Amino acid sequence: MADVIVIGGGPAGLGAALEAKKTGAESVVILERDRELGGILNQCIHNGFGLHEFQEELTGPEYAQRFINQVKDEEIDVYLNTMVLDLTEDRKVTVLGDEGVQVIQGKSVVLAMGCRERTAGAIDLQGYRPAGVYNAGMAQRILNMEGYQVGREVVIYGSGDIGLIMARRMTLEGAKVKAVVEVMPHSSGLYRNIAQCLEDYDIPLLLRHQIQKVYGKDRIEGVTISQIDDQWRTVEGTEKIISCDTLLLSVGLIPENELSEKGNVPLDSGTKGAIVNSTMETGIPGIFSCGNVLHVHDIVDFVTKESRIAGRNAARFARNELPRGEEIPTRPGKGVTYTLPQKLMLEDPDGVTLFLRSDVIYKKARVKVKEGDRLVKEKRERLIVPSEMVQITLDPEELRELNGEIIVEIVGEKND
Ligand SMILES: Cc1cc2nc3c(=O)[nH]c(=O)nc-3n(C[C@H](O)[C@H](O)[C@H](O)COP(=O)(O)OP(=O)(O)OC[C@H]3O[C@@H](n4cnc5c(N)ncnc54)[C@H](O)[C@@H]3O)c2cc1C
Repeated sequence: MADVIVIGGGPAGLGAALEAKKTGAESVVILERDRELGGILNQCIHNGFGLHEFQEELTGPEYAQRFINQVKDEEIDVYLNTMVLDLTEDRKVTVLGDEGVQVIQGKSVVLAMGCRERTAGAIDLQGYRPAGVYNAGMAQRILNMEGYQVGREVVIYGSGDIGLIMARRMTLEGAKVKAVVEVMPHSSGLYRNIAQCLEDYDIPLLLRHQIQKVYGKDRIEGVTISQIDDQWRTVEGTEKIISCDTLLLSVGLIPENELSEKGNVPLDSGTKGAIVNSTMETGIPGIFSCGNVLHVHDIVDFVTKESRIAGRNAARFARNELPRGEEIPTRPGKGVTYTLPQKLMLEDPDGVTLFLRSDVIYKKARVKVKEGDRLVKEKRERLIVPSEMVQITLDPEELRELNGEIIVEIVGEKND
């Protein structure tokens, strides 16, 4: 039996476990399937982590280490090489670890399993399945953690952050990155990554382009690309072949929610993660969620912030002290693809920060939180892009005045 069981030892799991322990949980356990703590950060050897949390630019491993050191100091029980196989609604967790299969009962559970990459199958890539086609994150792991060069002539499909960062990384290792091919009219990565990873190295970003076909039987030899129009149709006459020995796919991330499903945790079709209230509690009492398994984050500092809320409230639940009260739903309106949390508690002494993403790029934008026709809060942003999460905070007084569904919308000059 443990007060709080945390599944996953990435930044979300580390942050939740530490906060649970610091706020009074007596026994906190982290279950991690990998051989070390840190999650995806271990392979992110570039800098850019920790600007909000530490006001410093750290590498991924440096950021993780700060939390791993604290976990050691706080006497949190860590089980590595331990795969969680099952989770029940009454918070029984089945694990496969060094001592075989075991069942651990948690007073509360925090889901922090992160996310995984979409594959070639998921995007229906045409052609053979030759060697040399990798998910960008897998290539990053092979290069940065195992020390192998992945390829020499590279095309990257999708301009998510992992693809952009790998474009620079492969270039620094002596490879020629011939193009980053993106079907959307804008990149799905952070602006700073486009500048620092592509523009600084003269790597072309081909927007509104698709890969039509992969060539090569044993090893990839090239790809055909073409332009597409705004109806997603091929623009005739724009096809061209780019020779390459490596294709990296950076075409989206999916929260790892198989365990959540086993525990009957209700999921949101927009985020593909759990539906949570302001305490990060899911629809199953005592099961909390945070980090990339809840919704895909671009900045790890916000993962840490969210994980603290989950950890603190998991500890409260374990002590039977989690406040219950009236909740109202939130819903994405015009220009917004999702909002989180999906339910707000009206009595919340800390207030609540709503996270949201836009559908397209907006200039001179206003984020509006509305209750029917009443404007509850408004925030101005010079530029909003789908790849960067937007936040807007409601303070305790604003929360207490609410009594109906909240709709969050973005208005501004569309720039598509
Ligand atoms: C390539 C790349 C570059 C990035 N660059 C930046 C950047 O420059 N700046 C920035 O701020 N952020 C960056 N990020 C984002 C940031 O790294 C992530 O948002 C953050 O790591 C997510 O943390 P997490 O704990 O939710 O997930 P993860 O780090 O993925 O951790 C999840 C953990 O759960 C474990 N797990 C999963 N299932 C199970 C199971 N069944 N049993 C046991 N354990 C399990 C996994 O092994 C893993 O260790 C980047 C991300 C990537 C992928």
